[in-house]
Amino acid sequence: MNLDKVSCEICSYKNYTLIQSKGKVGKFGEYGNLNIVQCQKCGHVFQEKKRNIEKNKKFFKTDYHKLNSHYSDDQEAINSQLSRSEGILRYLLATFPKNKKLLDLGCGYGYIMQNFIQAGYKCAGIDPDQSCVNFAKENSNLEVILGSSENLPYQDESFDIVISLGTLEHVSDLKKSLKEIWRVLSKEGILFLRMRPNRIWGLPYEYFNISTIRYFSVETQLLSLFLNGFSSHLITTEQLEGRNGDVYISVRKSEEKASSLDSLIKNGYFDKPGELTIYLKNHYHKLLEKSKELLNLVGPKNENIDRVVSLIESGSLNYPLFTGYTDTKSALLRGIQEAHITVKEPWI
Ligand SMILES: [Zn+2]
Repeated sequence: MNLDKVSCEICSYKNYTLIQSKGKVGKFGEYGNLNIVQCQKCGHVFQEKKRNIEKNKKFFKTDYHKLNSHYSDDQEAINSQLSRSEGILRYLLATFPKNKKLLDLGCGYGYIMQNFIQAGYKCAGIDPDQSCVNFAKENSNLEVILGSSENLPYQDESFDIVISLGTLEHVSDLKKSLKEIWRVLSKEGILFLRMRPNRIWGLPYEYFNISTIRYFSVETQLLSLFLNGFSSHLITTEQLEGRNGDVYISVRKSEEKASSLDSLIKNGYFDKPGELTIYLKNHYHKLLEKSKELLNLVGPKNENIDRVVSLIESGSLNYPLFTGYTDTKSALLRGIQEAHITVKEPWI
């Protein structure tokens, strides 16, 4: 089906096709209509109905916090975020030891910055969620302000590193945001970002969700960066935060003229239209088999759950579990819920 309504935010091509019409519109397990489309030139994947800057601000002020049930005063959540930032800190210290003026774009409660400050970084954070900003100010005395990436309230060349851990997927205007990041970075400054490529490992309907406006592949992410003043990329797939499926990309601010769209595409910086759909079909099929296997193992009333926990812990059963839980049993209970969804909600 050709929808032909808006142009692609990366390559400006006007033709896109629908790849999925359902996604997460509420909390975990709540699915509804969500049109996900793919540009037929560069292969960029995005929500068909994009929120403009004002609507996006409102969304993050009111809905986002409710949809993501993490608790600011939960010590376990705090410890988990603090320990997740250790891997990032170690990586950045080893890779860019001189870049110490840091902006955390989409900093949330600001926990990531605490380890950085202790390591001698000068940190500032910005987030569109008022409750996060209030919490960071009241509890940890961090320099955190309310705002969005399309309009960064900082002077030119204020930072020599900007970290963006999964935020570019949520901003309303990608080009404006990249322009602003470029402006506040010092000469040859670094943009370090975490992304979760659209070659997913978990549930398709959870990955495609209302709060995520765009779904990069590594290639389309790089294409967007190269067209907007960044160069010399460095990629690591080491799981710096101990999760699953993350990719970390560092690029440098460049004063040189960007390569043309056509030459970048020619050099492979695009996602061939249609390939993601084939990937998702195969992925869903494998996930369905694994889900059935898991549900069989745990039994209809989860009566064998402890045995399955020991199978996973001993390495005899390799099952991809959602991270963010400190013990295998809680992670497995979530995995069982996901397996039920996979069986009940076939991917179309
Ligand atoms: Zn495109």
